[in-house]
Amino acid sequence: MHADEVMQLFERVGAVRHGHFELSSGRHSSTYVQCALVLQYPESAEKLGRALAEKFKGVQIDCVASPALGGVLVGHEVARGLGVRAVFVERDISGRMALRRGFAFQPNERVLVVEDVWTTGGSTRETIGVVEQAGGLAVAAGALIDRSGNRLELNVPTKALIDLDIPSYEAFECPLCRSGQEIAKPGSHFVRSER
Ligand code: ZN
Repeated sequence: MHADEVMQLFERVGAVRHGHFELSSGRHSSTYVQCALVLQYPESAEKLGRALAEKFKGVQIDCVASPALGGVLVGHEVARGLGVRAVFVERDISGRMALRRGFAFQPNERVLVVEDVWTTGGSTRETIGVVEQAGGLAVAAGALIDRSGNRLELNVPTKALIDLDIPSYEAFECPLCRSGQEIAKPGSHFVRSER
């Protein structure tokens, strides 16, 4: 699947929005990509998952792990493409990412960590930590969209379907805040900030 083709899938359903947004990483941006709008169509989800899975051809992968909620559908579809199982990690009562619901890894089971969008890659980094604490071996990480602008600091090889070069800012340096434009928080941030 070519990057243009992926982008068209997103744009057709209005998943690329323009304005002033607080991303789930806490950074601000004029552009927000709402993957859920694409993934609500199982056919598109399957297509994207298969395309991302293909990027890891040649890597031995036994399981896919994703951070909830954003990564769950993508992880599931990538796992379908790879013919392996998919698990997810989620925040526990203390707010830390954890493996729950009886999910477990075999010792050194080779795990691909998958999420929807990388801004800082923070959720993927946390997921890698959970996988390794649970005895798995994180061998690579993937995302539908990488908008990190090469700021990813992950200790595994990474692949994304699209590299989006969209600036994002810390709140104190955000030009949109300075111009007084109202901000929207469309992501999973609510779940975290209202805890
Ligand atoms: Zn701002």
